[in-house]
Amino acid sequence: MSDADRDARHARLAALDRAHVWHPFTQMQTWLEPAVGDEPLIIDHAMGSWLFDTQGRKYLDGVSSLWVNVHGHRKMEIDSAIKLQLSNVAHTTLLGLASPPSIELAAELVQRAPRFPGQPTLTRVFYSDSGSTSVEIALKIAFQHWRQRGKTKKRKFVALSDAYHGDTLGSVSVGGVDLFHEIFRPLLFDVLRIPTPHAYRWPTGEKHCLEAAALAAEALIAGRHEEIAALIVEPLVQGAAGMITHPAGYLKRLAEICRAHDVLLICDEVATGFGRTGTLFACEQEQVVPDLMCLAKGITGGYLPLAATLATEEIHQSFLGPFESKKTFFHGHTYTGNPLACAAAVANLKIFDEEQTLVHANAMAARLAEGLASVAQLPHVGEIRQRGLMIGIELVRERATKEEYGYDERMGHRVCLAARKREVMLRPLGNVVVLMPPLAIQPQEVDLLVEAVRESIAEVTGRSEIR
Ligand SMILES: *Cc1c(COP(=O)(O)O)cnc(C)c1O
Repeated sequence: MSDADRDARHARLAALDRAHVWHPFTQMQTWLEPAVGDEPLIIDHAMGSWLFDTQGRKYLDGVSSLWVNVHGHRKMEIDSAIKLQLSNVAHTTLLGLASPPSIELAAELVQRAPRFPGQPTLTRVFYSDSGSTSVEIALKIAFQHWRQRGKTKKRKFVALSDAYHGDTLGSVSVGGVDLFHEIFRPLLFDVLRIPTPHAYRWPTGEKHCLEAAALAAEALIAGRHEEIAALIVEPLVQGAAGMITHPAGYLKRLAEICRAHDVLLICDEVATGFGRTGTLFACEQEQVVPDLMCLAKGITGGYLPLAATLATEEIHQSFLGPFESKKTFFHGHTYTGNPLACAAAVANLKIFDEEQTLVHANAMAARLAEGLASVAQLPHVGEIRQRGLMIGIELVRERATKEEYGYDERMGHRVCLAARKREVMLRPLGNVVVLMPPLAIQPQEVDLLVEAVRESIAEVTGRSEIR
């Protein structure tokens, strides 16, 4: 394609995008009246950790195309698995029928799920198509489970104050990010809240955080367990809240409290799953097996929309009965367990074995940590939080007081725009610069990422220095 053809194609697509596409989590007025350097950037294709736009520019995919990519783009084994499945069939339903890829994947997921002696075992896989639906399903299963066990008073959910579990109404109900969720409050069911163990901003200081947060959870659950169906938590890291990393031991404490009081534990591993935090699932790091586990994002290696809610055999048993008992779980999405997506997911898991993906990811995480030490020295970096390849760099106006930048200053966004000039694609969470590269990122790419982030933060925060 000539340069002129390429530019004409880009201009046409950009105009059509502005005319017709409503982008998620995007102020469309800003999108439609772009500032310089903020015009629609249209990704045309990708390879490995690199994205290529319609104007011939390339960018390192620093957030794994919104936290989903694992082994890089155009991974040969996943491409092939999808093509092979496509030569059989693209879609058949799981409502009353089975399919080879959904069967193979369920067995693989169960085999790889966290498993520790003395705890229940996850044996059942319920498919859907997004993280939000995987959470919605976990909530509905937990609720129906207790009803069918005759404990109809157990119908409330406990969630953390800054939780993010998706954008459907059930998952928004358990969510606690006011910016996203507040406006919908009148539509939502009430949820019992426990504090987010956010050490950096814990009111009585970092060292009290774990104990105080665990005690608050225990007090609530011990007092009201008869009305509580389940507690839902993002294990180890609360992603959308700003990559808030929990103190070690917190998840284990929550699990013990839940077990002691007959409250189900739902771990939302949508962001943390598939090697993100250094182990295949984050729960493993605290030897915790949840009663329900939500998976999505990385499940297909970042290829296709697929999600799964894993349940223990005990929970599954609650739904068994004669046909006329109506104990059926009456829930299902049209594309539930899509064969192309399941085939991609099976291939994704196989690569974890063949390429020792976790070993590589942990080496890259260590290299990133080393590089980020210099970023932590920058005057407006408040804290860098990291678990594996899940990283948040919190920018603050003033380090000593931890004073935040204002919403309208868009500091995170400005750093991301500055990084684009350095061939790195990022997307922030408010004042938190997020780094979530593909697990397959290469050493030189890690170095490029760190360098671009350091320069971008220095450039943007330097200019905004208050005198
Ligand atoms: C992204 C995310 C979700 C929602 O997943 P979608 O596929 O966007 O619906 C739920 N929980 C967590 C922890 C997430 O990070």
